[in-house]
Amino acid sequence: MLKDDVKEKALAGAGGTQTKRKCSMDQNEIDEAAGETLRIFRESGAIVEDVHVVHISGLHFPMTINKDAIFPHLDRIERLARLLARRLTDLSIDIVCGPAMGGLVVGEWLAHELGVMCAFAEHDPDPQPGEIRGRFVLRRGYDQLVSNRNVLVVDDIVNTGHSIRQTIEAVRAAGGQVVAAVSLVFVGNFDAKALGVDDYYYLLHYDVPPGWPPEECPLCRDGVPVNTRYGHGKEFLAAQKKKQEGKGDTTPSVEGGTGS
Ligand SMILES: [Zn+2]
Repeated sequence: MLKDDVKEKALAGAGGTQTKRKCSMDQNEIDEAAGETLRIFRESGAIVEDVHVVHISGLHFPMTINKDAIFPHLDRIERLARLLARRLTDLSIDIVCGPAMGGLVVGEWLAHELGVMCAFAEHDPDPQPGEIRGRFVLRRGYDQLVSNRNVLVVDDIVNTGHSIRQTIEAVRAAGGQVVAAVSLVFVGNFDAKALGVDDYYYLLHYDVPPGWPPEECPLCRDGVPVNTRYGHGKEFLAAQKKKQEGKGDTTPSVEGGTGS
């Protein structure tokens, strides 16, 4: 449906001038890009299956995506950024901005592909009461850099949309116009509107099986050890230990189930 003749249009304007992008991918190429993205993630060991992980939401999952496995491989990040740049449709972009760390790494490479500038958002060092980590804010003069500019907001993996949404809000608060949101992988189940943008592009939608609350988790029931390398298993185990110490033994997990 989309024509091929607009391929690689207008990479002119390095250094912050507007770059008009046309999507150069038809549906076949979009599907191929999704396949290649999955292959790169798999080859990098970023798709971790048969694990028992605890998400920040508190839900337990039988798999996780470890994006940190991709970042050491610059050729792979470069390739993904190139695919992502080609995925963008009809956008005038002055600057790319993403939440650190993942959105910063992908943002730099994507901005390089687009020939525009790159800024990043970071956690506010002074969290508000009730926050575990501070909201994403623009510091280092990046608020002025995005002001009155067309901003493409990027993240590596969008799950709940928490980080990218806060980055969008920070850009707008600084006077930037958010033209679209993009990510390498989308794990969530919502649309652009939920992020507060007109367009949201990603290379791959990865279906993660629904998580379980700990009391319904079959892995806990079967005594599969909670993984502490990924996600928030360490915090979960510490909280459990505290709970058990506090009120004797209620053991909702990790002990082997007896079956029935
Ligand atoms: Zn569990």
